[in-house]
Amino acid sequence: FWQHFNDEMRERFNEVAYNAWFKNTKPISFDKNSHELKIAVQNPVAKGYWEKNLSSELIQSAYGYAGMEIIPTFQIEGESGPERIVTPEPRHEPRRPLAQPRQDEFAKDLKLNDKYTFDNFVQGEGNKLAAGAALAVADSPGSFYNPLFIFGGVGLGKTHLMQAIGHQMLAERPNAKVVYIQSETFVNDFINSIKNKTQDQFREKYRTCDLLLVDDIQFFAKKEGIQEEFFHTFETLYNDQKQIVMTSDRLPTEIPDLSERLVSRFTWGLQVEITPPDLETRIAILRKKAEAEGLTIDDNTLDYIASQVDTNIRELEGALVKVQAHATIEKEDINVTLAREALADLKLVQKNRGLQISKIQEVVANYYQTSTEELKGKKRVRQIVVPRQIAMYLSRELTDASLPKIGQEFGGKDHTTVMHACDKIQQQIKTDSEIKSAIYDLKQMLDH
Ligand code: ADP
Ligand code: MG
Repeated sequence: FWQHFNDEMRERFNEVAYNAWFKNTKPISFDKNSHELKIAVQNPVAKGYWEKNLSSELIQSAYGYAGMEIIPTFQIEGESGPERIVTPEPRHEPRRPLAQPRQDEFAKDLKLNDKYTFDNFVQGEGNKLAAGAALAVADSPGSFYNPLFIFGGVGLGKTHLMQAIGHQMLAERPNAKVVYIQSETFVNDFINSIKNKTQDQFREKYRTCDLLLVDDIQFFAKKEGIQEEFFHTFETLYNDQKQIVMTSDRLPTEIPDLSERLVSRFTWGLQVEITPPDLETRIAILRKKAEAEGLTIDDNTLDYIASQVDTNIRELEGALVKVQAHATIEKEDINVTLAREALADLKLVQKNRGLQISKIQEVVANYYQTSTEELKGKKRVRQIVVPRQIAMYLSRELTDASLPKIGQEFGGKDHTTVMHACDKIQQQIKTDSEIKSAIYDLKQMLDH
């Protein structure tokens, strides 16, 4: 009957979901006396999903199809990956009706990227737990893992997965209100609503959706007023059993000055990490992208490209684009030799990968005989402003840190300040020979 049940489910679920819940899930023993059917599942997310959503169907199927009375129990089997997962007991509560749709107003906010779907998401080592959790949430929003908190490094698919939940929900319930925002948008909207006295509209927008997706929530760090507002948004949605999904580059407990009560709320649901993909997964991702672009690339070449970029999937995509562009310009087919040429300068970036912003600050502070505290401080005298801007510029050039991240490392400055500094130095390099040679020297020093 297991096979029968599997076949039934294969028809019901799409391939991605089927693989998430059924691949490597198998009965291991049956006790005739107690009727206990022990079932091995791959990970805690799958266990939760089976317990909540599939076990009653399994019981019915066993009875209906084979006349067997079973009591399924689940145990997690097999190696667990490097990802961290924190899972409390799933909450069992009925789903509330949909909020009244106000499509005109929300259509303009909904900027889901068409490509960020489950179908386009390659599962593998590093992301399979997160993908499973996202699927579970898309499947039963508001009642299962709420909130879902996905965390991990840059370019590993957090935004992609989060938006996939939005797509899935809209596919199933086209009238659902899905709000996707960068956390900065929440901040800006809030500030504007105060300025324009439109707080009611602000609250209406955020507190009446069915699915709220807040991307990169670490930017709420140290912003008390915003945290307060978001707390109320969270409470309202949560109490209405609306689904909340957040991403961050770190765990809630690691976000500086995040209020206790937000930390505690964020941990009510499920926190799941995405870690960098292994080679096999990187190859699978490249293959999928190549197919989507209609490119034919042999396995050796895919293997070569995937071996050149080992942490960040956005960079991996960038590498593929580079190779493709190179092939077009040279009017040659894509092969290992061509890929090697195209990616020659990638080595340079990789050499700098380990470079820390703190190291840049140290070297720049030394060079200008000031201190890293001054660079991170607020003094606006020229002797400090120039080195500070140079250090920001170098951080931007030599590391893959984002503007907000750099701002954070410079004593919590706004990303626009960093952007301004980078533009300024970029201009000055062209006109000011002193700056130009300073940059040259500093780069040499950093390039040990
Ligand atoms: P993050 O939000 O973690 O910084 P993104 O979600 O923006 O990362 O992903 C970066 C890029 O890599 C996107 O273009 C995304 O589509 C792609 N990507 C990430 N993970 C996968 C995956 N598992 N399968 C396919 N593409 C992926
Ligand atoms: Mg992102």
